Amino acid sequence: MAKIVILTGAGISAESGIRTFRASDGLWEEHRIDDVATPEGFSRDPALVHEFYNARRAAARVAQPNAAHLALAELEADARYDVLIVTQNVDDLHERAGSQNVIHMHGSLFGALCHACGHRWPAPEVMTATDSCPACRRTATRPDIVWFGEMPYQMERIVAALEDADLFVSIGTSGNVYPAAGFVQGATEAGVETLELNLEPSTGTQLFDTSHHGPATQIVPQWVRERLARA
Ligand SMILES: [Zn+2]
Repeated sequence: MAKIVILTGAGISAESGIRTFRASDGLWEEHRIDDVATPEGFSRDPALVHEFYNARRAAARVAQPNAAHLALAELEADARYDVLIVTQNVDDLHERAGSQNVIHMHGSLFGALCHACGHRWPAPEVMTATDSCPACRRTATRPDIVWFGEMPYQMERIVAALEDADLFVSIGTSGNVYPAAGFVQGATEAGVETLELNLEPSTGTQLFDTSHHGPATQIVPQWVRERLARA
């Protein structure tokens, strides 16, 4: 089986109507990143941060997986390919498209985390600053989202999978946010073939062996069709 590690970012969910952080103005749905996506912002105003993620969760629930998500699930279902998706996205569109092997390196809108004891549980539709943790009963609940300044999840497993892969594909990511932006260099140093599929050339586009540019819903299904057509 050919081992393929696929990094996905905001660009794959954008065509499902999910808006995300815009680096150009430092805003996410009209909120400053410092206010809604840092541990300090959460300490200052937990109610605002919960309201923000409750709204993001509600929007993600009504969004639908698009042709790019569906194509990646189709690739994973083919017995010739061992596919691992490493997503920076906090929505569940890969899972709803049928992908099973998914790592959410920046956490998930659908998870709750106790910052007192580390317990995790499925997020209710509406989380509040006064919710208590089901394990330790303290009012220390937060969205299970990796904020700026925090360590992404499962990095050891991701790096091991990257170094052991036959192909690394980066889809819909700007190439600005580390550590994900460094995956292409790590893969290249390990002798892994690299491919970029992005709306436009990313910051690190020259680091990839091959790049294709265009909307994810067009270039991702096209790439998957080509892989599946191989004898
Ligand atoms: Zn707890």
